[in-house]
Amino acid sequence: MKDFCPICEEMTKVESVRTRKEVLVRGDTFSVYCEYFRCTLCDSEFEKSGSGIDPLAEAYKNYQIKHDMITSEKMIEFRKKYDLTQKELSELLGWGGATLSRYENGALQDDAHDRALQLAMKPEGLRTLVRNDKKVLTEEKRQRILDIIDSNRNTRTSLLGYLKAITNYDPGILSGFRKMDIRKLFGTIEFLCKGNDGIPKTKLNKLLFYADFKHFKENGVSITGARYARLPFGPVLNDYEHFFATLIHEEGLITVEERSFSNGANGEYYSTSNAPDIELLSDSELSTLLGIKKYFHNINATRISELSHNEPAYIKTENSNLISYEYAELLSI
Ligand SMILES: [Zn+2]
Repeated sequence: MKDFCPICEEMTKVESVRTRKEVLVRGDTFSVYCEYFRCTLCDSEFEKSGSGIDPLAEAYKNYQIKHDMITSEKMIEFRKKYDLTQKELSELLGWGGATLSRYENGALQDDAHDRALQLAMKPEGLRTLVRNDKKVLTEEKRQRILDIIDSNRNTRTSLLGYLKAITNYDPGILSGFRKMDIRKLFGTIEFLCKGNDGIPKTKLNKLLFYADFKHFKENGVSITGARYARLPFGPVLNDYEHFFATLIHEEGLITVEERSFSNGANGEYYSTSNAPDIELLSDSELSTLLGIKKYFHNINATRISELSHNEPAYIKTENSNLISYEYAELLSI
């Protein structure tokens, strides 16, 4: 490759040389990959940044693993799970605001900080930190974290508890400016499944998407406060597996049956024998839902999937991202 040699200060051919070297970290020596460069003109060797190989970072990681310390990946994963910012977690631990940021970016934590992190990352440790906190977190956020801790403990016995924790987000453009109400969503799903001898699971996901987005388009607010995600096979209710499993297995509101589609493939059909609980739905919301049901009555799962793939809301969103309701105004129906 053609590059600048800092020794002879010429543009020249530079060769990459990969080798191993010993790096000493707090008394432990690790053999790690490193990369340096050789100028073919003056034959000097030099290092440069941005080579993609970081021997010190690798040595730190080896040290962390050897001493059962928390790696930066684990720190980030933990923080994301509870939706904590670097600053919030840092301050909860009584550290300076930038301390965690340094660790997540590859600095090696000292032993006392590692012990504090180990403790904080256990549910009971986090619960104590959050309960005792008076100034770092908002009351709402504190409650949300406590809910997530509880729901993790109860996931096997209560899917509903888990759903409550993951849907306790603030209303915004991703939820159509509506606070999520699980009971209302369940009533909506029952309503969409009622009659017609049941509907395919795929179609149910699309109907929900169209109902919420259509209602947002016309009223500036969604019906259920649900978030939708872009998956390769179309827009879907985010975390739909958990919602549907709760409706079927825990609440017994929906029954599921495996059937063959017209194209020969097998799939799940959802139906309900209950009178849908529509108490929480307003007249305008019911009217949107009825309109959606009628509009798509004779449109099968394959066709409605095709339609949803052509929606700007779908096209403009990256795979596995949440779909913004701002695209509702471009909805084709
Ligand atoms: Zn040179």
